[in-house]
Parts: sequence; structure tokens; C-alpha cells
Amino acid sequence: MVGQGTETGLTQNAEPEPRSLSLGGHVGFDSLPDQLVSKSVTQGFSFNILCVGETGIGKSTLMNTLFNTTFETEEASHHEECVRLRPQTYDLQESNVHLKLTIVDAVGFGDQINKDESYRPIVDYIDAQFENYLQEELKIRRSLFEYHDTRVHVCLYFITPTGHSLKSLDLVTMKKLDSKVNIIPIIAKADTISKSELHKFKIKIMGELVSNGVQIYQFPTDDEAVAEINAVMNAHLPFAVVGSTEEVKVGNKLVRARQYPWGVVQVENENHCDFVKLREMLIRVNMEDLREQTHSRHYELYRRCKLEEMGFQDSDGDSQPFSLQETYEAKRKEFLSELQRKEEEMRQMFVNKVKETELELKEKERELHEKFEHLKRVHQEEKRKVEEKRRELEEETSAFNRRKAAVEALQSQALHATSQQPLRKDKDKKNRSDIGVHQSGMSLSNSKVMMTKASVEPLNCSSWWPAIQCCSCLVRDATWREGFL
Ligand code: GDP
Repeated sequence: MVGQGTETGLTQNAEPEPRSLSLGGHVGFDSLPDQLVSKSVTQGFSFNILCVGETGIGKSTLMNTLFNTTFETEEASHHEECVRLRPQTYDLQESNVHLKLTIVDAVGFGDQINKDESYRPIVDYIDAQFENYLQEELKIRRSLFEYHDTRVHVCLYFITPTGHSLKSLDLVTMKKLDSKVNIIPIIAKADTISKSELHKFKIKIMGELVSNGVQIYQFPTDDEAVAEINAVMNAHLPFAVVGSTEEVKVGNKLVRARQYPWGVVQVENENHCDFVKLREMLIRVNMEDLREQTHSRHYELYRRCKLEEMGFQDSDGDSQPFSLQETYEAKRKEFLSELQRKEEEMRQMFVNKVKETELELKEKERELHEKFEHLKRVHQEEKRKVEEKRRELEEETSAFNRRKAAVEALQSQALHATSQQPLRKDKDKKNRSDIGVHQSGMSLSNSKVMMTKASVEPLNCSSWWPAIQCCSCLVRDATWREGFL
């Protein structure tokens, strides 16, 4: 039978609806889903889990418990300066399915005194994985088939079992992450909180998340096969979990549990905790939905914002599809003019800087010149003073030499007089009476000073030369002194 295609009421751009035809016999394309499965199995899968929670809250233990293995994790210290993301990738195999699992640990989360920026390294890490994928997509030669997709598919957010309310760090971090990753909140170490307290705590957490507008991942209810179970599980969020890799004998069975003096907490006992619910939802039912949501919702949002930022649009103002070539040209022009503007700005800045430096140098030169002039003046003044002093000294020296010569003359006269004393005794007597002036040991005759040895006998000095220089010896007799000078 041939189906009728709708050919009426078509707009110019609308595609005609395809006609439905029935087949005469088995063709074989009903095997397409099997081909898809087979191809996916061959290709393998990747799944990336981000664990955010305080150090020692049980992240590593829960990962080991979830995948029933022991991942290589080194114990984190509480003294990290900032939050650091540590991804580790493992190849796991179950039946014929290969899973490339990456566990990313937010090391040092909640350990700093100032926690304002604790969320930033986590956001940056998630964005970096989106960016890597986008770069691969934009390549001319893409190899998305072999590409190791590191985009974070789920964030397990570990809440401390305080029984009170969420910490502001938890609210801020979840709010910053909710548009970038699927968040599943879990209450860690649920064996440390009583059943009634846990019930109230869960209600409180959900209330706080809603009132703060934090969007957590909701298990999808649009697929009939899983709608019911997912709806039930959504009501159990946040899951309260217990982790342990220790095996304890309960009855005849060895089970993973935590043993206490008062009893045993079994990890996989749904009356004890929600571990099984978490494993069901995360791994067995919704793993593909988490991968799908990451690609179609979170990555799509990142990609759209990024491309819009770069100037790309789906259509122009007149709803005409935008040509990639035109957008590229426009963007290139914009970039070049921006580059030119920046170049001009830098050139101007350089010229200004040179001018400033030139002015500074000139000012320094002027200061130096002034300093030099001042020093020159000081130097001339000092030179003048030294000259004056030299002249004074020279005058003093010549006066002294004159005095010395006079004294030496006096001395030799005195000596001469002493040696001729007996011969001239009478004559002296006469002279003395003539002049009428007699000084002990010294005579003044025709303006010449006569000095006997006795008259210049030093008063204070032991020999002649110091005595001549010494004032108190020379001024022994005032009359003589005046005559001498
Ligand atoms: P991480 O730093 O968050 O990776 O924490 P670990 O997984 O290294 O666990 C820190 C400590 O908490 C270890 O001594 C674990 O045995 C313990 N622990 C882990 N999970 C639980 C749990 O569910 N309940 C209790 N009571 N202790 C746990």
C-alpha cells in the first residue's frame, strides 16, 4: 500500500512530509539498534565522576565501594593551600563492556580558612574539559571518535552528616556548579546519624536547596521503562550512604560492612543506608542519561555562550541565517581594528613614557648643575679664606723673623757689652747720669737697646731661645719692652 504525502499548505522553506510506505517483506534494517550497541561496545564508554567534599568525608572509600575495587588514592592532607583537582583514569571491564572511568577528586576542599574561592578551581576544571571538547569539534580534522571525552558527567557532592543544615560553602559551591554539571547530593557517613535525625536532615537539605535555587540532577521520568523507579528515587534524594571495603561475616555470608562494638552496618542493606539506591541510579539505570545530559544540556550551554562571545549567531536581525564566512570576516575585521587600536595605544604610551623620562632627566641635570655651582662657590670662598690665612701667616712669619733678628742683634750687643764692661765702666757711669734712666741690666743709648746677660736671664725658661719667644721673659721690664718694640 502506498501512503499519501501531505502536499497542501507548504510554505516555501518547509520540507514536504515524507510519505509512509509499507514493505513487502523483511529487509533487515531492524538490526540497526543492535549495530549501534555493537559499535558502542567496540568503541567502549567513558564516564567521569567528580567527587566534591571535605577531606576525610569518605570520598575514596565510597568510590572503591561503588566499583567494588581499590583505586590508587593517596591520602590527602588537611594542609593544602588551595583546592586542587586530581583526575585519575582507569580502564574497567565488565563482561565485554569497556569503561574508561575517570575519578576527579577535589583535594583540599573545605580545608582553607578563607573558603570564598574554594569553588573556583572546580568550575575552572569543568570549563577546561568543555573547552577541550569544543576545540576538538572546531578542528578541520576532527577525531571525536577516538577522542577521550573528559567532560564531567556527574558530581557527587558529599554533605557532612551534621544533622543541622547545609554549610554556606556547600550552598555556594553547588549553586556555582549546577549549570555546568549534574549534581547528585549525598549524605556521607550516614552511619553516624540516627534514623529520625537523618529523615529530618534530608527534608531540611532539600528545602534549603530549593529555597536557594540550586538545581540538582533529577532522575529522568520521560522513559517509561525507568520512569517509575526514577520518580521513587527522586523522592529519596539526597542519598545517605555508608562506604566500606571491609568484609564482615553476617550469618553465612560475607558482606561489605562497618563493624562496631554495638553491631554491624551493612553497606548493601537498604535498611541501613541508601548505598544500593545510589549504585542503582548512578551506574545501573541512569549512567547513559548522565552522559547525554552532560552533552545536550551543560556542554551545549557552554558552547552556545562561547560561540556567542566569539560573535557567532544563528541568524541576523532579519532572521536570515548567518553565513559562517561573513561572521568570520566581520570578526576578523573587528579583531584587526582592535589590534590596531591597541598598537596605537601602546605607541602613545611609549611616547609619553619617553617624554616623562626625558623631563625627569632634564630636571636631574638642572639639579646637578645647581649643586655643582654651589660647590664651586663654596670652594672659591674656602680658597679665598686659605689665601688670607696664608698671607697672615706669612706676615706673622716675617714679623717673627724681624723680631728674631732684632733679638739676636740685641743678644750679640749684650754679649759684646758684657765683655767690654771693665773698660767702659766709667764711661757708663757718666752715660747713666746723662740719660738719667737706669734699668737693671739694660741701658738705652741713642735709641739703641743695651741688654746685659743678667737683664735677659730667663724668668721661666731654661735657655735663651725659648726665653726670646716667651712673653713673660721678654716683658720682664715694661720700659725695655716698649723700647724693644
Ligand atoms: P576522603 O579523604 O574523603 O577520600 O576520605 P576517605 O575515604 O579516605 O575516608 C576517611 C576515613 O573515613 C577513613 O578512615 C574511612 O574508613 C572512613 N569512612 C569512610 N566512609 C565511611 C562511612 O561511611 N562511615 C564511617 N563511619 N566512616 C567512613
